[in-house]
Amino acid sequence: MLGAMQDWDLRVTRIIDHAAREHGGREIVSRWADGSETVTTWAGVRLDALKMTQALRNLGVQPGERIATLAMNHARHLVSWYGAVGVGGVLHTVNPRLFDDQLEYIANHADDQVLLYDAAFQPLVDRMKPKWTTIKHYICFDNGEFETWIGAENGDTEWATGGERDPCMLCYTSGTTGNPKGVLYEHRSTMLHAITSVQPAIFDLDARSVMLPVVPMFHAASWGLPWGGAAAGIKFVFSAVNDAKVLCDLMNREKVTHSAGVPTVWLAMFQHMDAENVTLPTLRQAIIGGSAAPRFMIERLMKAGVNVAHAWGMTETSPIGTTGAKCWNWDDLSFDEQVEVKLMQGRVPFGVELRIIDLDDPNKVLPRDGKTSGALQVRGPWVIKRYFKAEADATDDEQWFDTGDVAILYPDGTLQLTDRTKDVIKSGGEWISSVELENAAMSHPAVAEAAAIGIYHPRWDERPILVVVRKADCEVCSDEIKTHLAASVAKWWLPDAVEFVDEIPHGGTGKVSKKDLREQFRDYKLPD
Ligand code: ADP
Repeated sequence: MLGAMQDWDLRVTRIIDHAAREHGGREIVSRWADGSETVTTWAGVRLDALKMTQALRNLGVQPGERIATLAMNHARHLVSWYGAVGVGGVLHTVNPRLFDDQLEYIANHADDQVLLYDAAFQPLVDRMKPKWTTIKHYICFDNGEFETWIGAENGDTEWATGGERDPCMLCYTSGTTGNPKGVLYEHRSTMLHAITSVQPAIFDLDARSVMLPVVPMFHAASWGLPWGGAAAGIKFVFSAVNDAKVLCDLMNREKVTHSAGVPTVWLAMFQHMDAENVTLPTLRQAIIGGSAAPRFMIERLMKAGVNVAHAWGMTETSPIGTTGAKCWNWDDLSFDEQVEVKLMQGRVPFGVELRIIDLDDPNKVLPRDGKTSGALQVRGPWVIKRYFKAEADATDDEQWFDTGDVAILYPDGTLQLTDRTKDVIKSGGEWISSVELENAAMSHPAVAEAAAIGIYHPRWDERPILVVVRKADCEVCSDEIKTHLAASVAKWWLPDAVEFVDEIPHGGTGKVSKKDLREQFRDYKLPD
């Protein structure tokens, strides 16, 4: 027997219909690379997306085919998301910061048919064109090209129909080894994720919110904000350039209440704010994720009255895994205690389940005791089952995704990331957390960046070394760093050596590339 409720497939085109119907006049501001600005509305975005759906049909694009974008955050990019899914296509957001061989691989692997791109990436497109074998149509978002293309249509059409388990979006993760892997989101997973994302304890979005997402739309779908934001009918303020001055000016002029970005973004904003004596009086919610938010960042925002949603997630989890959602008793904590809990990666919303597994025995589930660390696994309706084009295998049935993170879970559900499984350092049979060493090092005032890696040791298997970039005009020696570390980590965790470098290698999403760093130190000899 089936239930007797209406058929209302969870398809993401319903989100833009809702936004246009219920929040049609709410504005979407775009600040373009050339400094000019335009304003549209949710009703305008829907009409343009309908026109793009018609234009794609005229190109012969079929449901299920991949439509790629190579673009920063702006209203036309937003329109193209809904236009691509509107035709029943699969939106593929390409990260322009990837290396050429990765860009070649993913567009061909995705079988992209159409590419919409910013004029700023014209040199990249010209360079890659001979290598991209499947893309038939190139459309530039700028110079009037996109407007002319969709302007030839009247928007008098219907969205493609289909099932809620149809795919709607494809994102590749850069991965630390091998080729990038594709994550194929479906309408249903994206819709459930969107509904969850706006909740007060998650991103806290409603019709009064003004959001400037710094996290790019090509980075884990801008954490799903273009879907969730439409569901809540928020006002968006987009900037096609990530310059701290531009961002701060926009935030103050547009009275931005919400923003989202990786820690380095906030760092750049703080530097600008200090140099120019600027504050962000209207900001009340800062979403920080992608890598760990440092203590001083959380403290500074909290002191300014901003709620910090320190979030953990992955492209494979759409990306929401946890946020800084408060436990019932956290309001009673002192300021310092609140900072302490915010430093961890927060708690899951309904829809996400976490567990930790013994690093040496994959069959042993570990307790949520706030002490034991293990390999973090996740499951839920917006968590990946298998990578795009991967064969189904036995692990599909387990429905637990191996995150590659190492973590501790607390009895109240709080997640604390301690490392990546590939980065933990095993010394004498015991695990050393590279992340804890790095955090301790980065709290030294003369350290700009630090990364810990394991180096082969004949007796202990591996021993940590710490690679450090000094802050400009700061002097600090190896012994000073070790003394500083000794105050917060166990003696046997102290690195055998501290090496100073000008730069630590970073990957396409701006994170430290331990793989490249290990390669750099491949022949390194530990001091006796
Ligand atoms: P990205 O494109 O951001 O690299 P990934 O999906 O590759 O996206 O990255 C996910 C990984 O980033 C997580 O598995 C985790 O290691 C790291 N990460 C994400 N959020 C946090 C956080 N708040 N604190 C620490 N690490 C994080």
